[in-house]
Amino acid sequence: MAIDATLPYDDDNIFAKILRGEIPNKTVYEDEHALAFHDINPQAPQHILVIPKGKYVSWDDFSAKASDAEIGGFVRAVGHVAREAGMVEPGYRLLANVGHDSHQEVPHLHVHIFSGKPLGPMLVRG
Ligand code: 5GP
Repeated sequence: MAIDATLPYDDDNIFAKILRGEIPNKTVYEDEHALAFHDINPQAPQHILVIPKGKYVSWDDFSAKASDAEIGGFVRAVGHVAREAGMVEPGYRLLANVGHDSHQEVPHLHVHIFSGKPLGPMLVRG
């Protein structure tokens, strides 16, 4: 179910539980600002999620409230993960859903990284 990205942060969301180690994940990369792990339901041959360690509901919340260090660290982590996975030369796609109309399901900011095959033109389907 799509979430309302204007609501306060919910400590019981699934990615908060992953960050606390309460739910297992297949970690790709971790540093002080970010955790990257494989999506449980991959939509491409490579589908990695990168999340900030701070409590941010969405890109909107993060871009408005996170510190410059958090934003810089997170953006660098996304690039690092894609680079280390060998995605730069073949190419990759980033996606961050925000709120109801985007169908954001988990209310903790996450950037999807898709790669591993030609992804075609960007589609916006209703
Ligand atoms: P959204 O629709 O919010 O942008 O994407 C949420 C993503 O989180 C989906 O691609 C979904 O497969 C993934 N996801 C949901 N629950 C879990 C989980 O427990 N573990 C992992 N690794 N991914 C999850």
